[in-house]
Amino acid sequence: MDSALDAKLRILADAAKYDASCASSGAPKRAADKNGLGSTTGCGICHSYTPDGRCVSLLKILLTNYCLFDCAYCVNRRSSNVRRARFTVDEVVALTVAFYRRNYIEGLFLSSGIIRSPDYTMEQLMLVAKKLRCEQGFAGYIHLKTIPEASPDLIEQAGLWADRLSINLELSSERSLRALAPEKRGATIRAAMGQMRERIALAREERRRFSPAGQSTQVIVGADDTTDQAVLQTSDTLYGSYKLKRVYYSAFSPIPEASAALPVKPPPLRRENRLYQADWLLRYYGFSVAEIAAGGKNGMLDLDIDPKLAWALKHRDRFPVDVNSAEREMLLRVPGLGKRAVDRIVTARRHARLRLDDIARLSAGVKRARAFLITADHHPAATTDRLDLRERLVPPPRQLGLF
Ligand code: SF4
Repeated sequence: MDSALDAKLRILADAAKYDASCASSGAPKRAADKNGLGSTTGCGICHSYTPDGRCVSLLKILLTNYCLFDCAYCVNRRSSNVRRARFTVDEVVALTVAFYRRNYIEGLFLSSGIIRSPDYTMEQLMLVAKKLRCEQGFAGYIHLKTIPEASPDLIEQAGLWADRLSINLELSSERSLRALAPEKRGATIRAAMGQMRERIALAREERRRFSPAGQSTQVIVGADDTTDQAVLQTSDTLYGSYKLKRVYYSAFSPIPEASAALPVKPPPLRRENRLYQADWLLRYYGFSVAEIAAGGKNGMLDLDIDPKLAWALKHRDRFPVDVNSAEREMLLRVPGLGKRAVDRIVTARRHARLRLDDIARLSAGVKRARAFLITADHHPAATTDRLDLRERLVPPPRQLGLF
């Protein structure tokens, strides 16, 4: 790679790292083996999950970090004193193809600051995807960030070439958007999400291609005083009304020469982690936002324990539950039992009365679950009588339990 392109790549890969909507960019590094089976050590390479659950390496970059907007929380804002760079469409196409051929990546995650106009920027992003598909025969994964104000025609074309489109909401309240991102409008973003939802549904009905992996968004956490409950309420609406595939939570990171309206410290990283766990409970475990929030205080999740355990400890009268007779919905609420383990339990109990050893075979979380479960050979004391339960179940630092 020539040195000018390499310098641009360094700037624009670094500028893209704040976008969490391509998940797990903090994945551990894998070194390429000598047969060249892939590497995560290259500049701008992150991991993400495709809708069918595969973990893929993506080239994650911005087309440019120049931007007309001045969102206070963003390192690329107009007034920021950062080094700027801009790729041409052909440079991004060439880089993607070169990385793909070397087996470094399986796809591209492309976002951009807004230059000239929303339509111009969107057209440039769309052209990268179009050229990759039509001129290079690129069959890898493409995730394009879209600009809410861009014309419907450009979004339609972007959806034709990309696998997933996303529009970042960034802040859940209109008040915070007005204060920290004065050029953005929550109503415009939501309207764009609504149109995207309709396009995706229509294309499915008509069996034509339009963003087959759906749409996603990112919400920044800790840049304003929005509570976890309000953030989760927003996510619930986005999943329900706009049919988003994923909401990504990105802990605010302080930036140089930041506005006085921003906190000087980032939120605890565990807050992001707890929000992801709560999001999982909303989507797959039948919990409502109010139930999840009730596990914490003042609308904030308990940072010391996961939200499912927090709910169980506040509803001890609902436990222990009998694995051999409880409804599936109640089993899903048992700390330590994941969705897959519950499905295995429900299948297995049709054939025999389950014992604690059986649960240990069916679930890796039996240690945590046993205080909340009755099996054929295990009858724990009522959880209401176990005053030390929380202390016994809180994991030592750095070993946070995931359900
Ligand atoms: S529009 Fe995007 S890139 Fe531009 S300042 Fe706002 S968040 Fe940053």
